[in-house]
Amino acid sequence: MFVTELRFECFADTTITAAEKAINNLLEAYRANGQVLGREFAVAFNEGEFRVRLMLPEKESLHYSFNSPWVKVALKELTEAKILAPREKLIGQDINSEVSATEFGDWQVLYTSYVHMCSPLRSGDNLLPIPLYRIPATFNGDHKRVIRWQTEWQACDELQMAAATKAEFAALEEISTPSSDLFRRGWDLRGRIEYLTKIPTYYYLYRVGGENKEAEINRPCPRCGSHDWKLEEPLLDMFHFRCEPCRIVSNLSWDHQ
Ligand SMILES: [Zn+2]
Repeated sequence: MFVTELRFECFADTTITAAEKAINNLLEAYRANGQVLGREFAVAFNEGEFRVRLMLPEKESLHYSFNSPWVKVALKELTEAKILAPREKLIGQDINSEVSATEFGDWQVLYTSYVHMCSPLRSGDNLLPIPLYRIPATFNGDHKRVIRWQTEWQACDELQMAAATKAEFAALEEISTPSSDLFRRGWDLRGRIEYLTKIPTYYYLYRVGGENKEAEINRPCPRCGSHDWKLEEPLLDMFHFRCEPCRIVSNLSWDHQ
């Protein structure tokens, strides 16, 4: 991932409120399209200009060719708020984060965790994140439904990893069972992405607990009950199960590895 700085200069009298609203709207639009990562953007005002630092999946993430309809409108609305088109200055590569996939793999997976801020669409070749703006819009012109699903999945993951509240159990249910609301929405998004990219796309089902290792190794697919989903060798050192018809991948229970 890369760190960049956007500078917004006012070209006529405007109010801070109007300027902030227009800038924040643009940042939200970029986020909904996967062009910027993260959720909080510190916008600083100094000497007549606004500056914001952003995390990008790739150097060229803000190139206009990737812009969604919402981003295009948001850029026009900057003019109405008397702000010039932003100037970008690339700061450099973020040393703590992963690089993005440069090519599509033979398969891909919808996978995230509470520590990942990158795209939840991962290449099956190497598990590297595929920037969402590189695929056609999933719904309504961009990828906000995917981003929203990811945000909620991560919130559930954080609650169950912390294991400190009663919400832990409800959260775990959401990320580990095919009857949950998060599964249903994520699995539908997976299907949509597979349809748009023509690349087999799987959904990652989290697994923890279970009686013992033996039972976990012989665990059937929780969606269709098939035992055919057990793999000889785990894929990417991580997925021990893959059900082709259900389009699900899963791990050997984290308690028995
Ligand atoms: Zn299945």
